[in-house]
Amino acid sequence: MDFKQIIMQPAKQIALVAHDNMKADLLDWAKFNRGSLARHRLFATGTTGLLIERELGQPVHRYQSGPLGGDQQIGAAIAEQQIDFLIFFWDPLEPQPHDPDVKALLRMAVVWNIPMASNRASADFLISSSLMDKAYPRRVPDYSAHAERALPKTA
Ligand code: PGA
Repeated sequence: MDFKQIIMQPAKQIALVAHDNMKADLLDWAKFNRGSLARHRLFATGTTGLLIERELGQPVHRYQSGPLGGDQQIGAAIAEQQIDFLIFFWDPLEPQPHDPDVKALLRMAVVWNIPMASNRASADFLISSSLMDKAYPRRVPDYSAHAERALPKTA
C-alpha cells in the first residue's frame, strides 16, 4: 500500500474525552500539564470540555456530550483532519450506553494514525515527547485505491 504524509504542526488539535469515572483523573492530568496544553488547541466532548475549560481557564471547543453524539463528532473531525491527537480515558470497568461510538472513535484514531492515549501513563509519555512541539509528518495509508475500488477498470 502507498502512504501519504500529513504534516502535524507544532500546535496540535488535541481532543480530550473522559468517561464519568475517569473525569477526575483526566482533570488532574490536564492541570499538571496546563503549560504544555496551552500551546495547543483543545477540543472535547461536552461535559469533559466544560470541566477542562473551568480547570485550565483555556478555551475548549465543545462537541455534544459523548453519549449524545460527541464521540462520533470527534471521530468525524479526525477523518476530516481537524483533530490530530486524542486523549481518551475510557472506563474499562463500566459498560457505556454509547459503547459502539467509543469503539468507532478508537477505530478512527487508528485509521488516521493519530497519537492516542487511553490511560494516564500513555498520556504522560505522549505529552512529554520531544515530537510534541515540532512539525511531524504523520504517515497515513493512501486510501484512494479503497475509494475507487468500485469504479470500472479501464483497459
Ligand atoms: P462527556 O462525554 O464528556 O460529555 O461526559 C464523554 C463520553 O462519555 O464519551
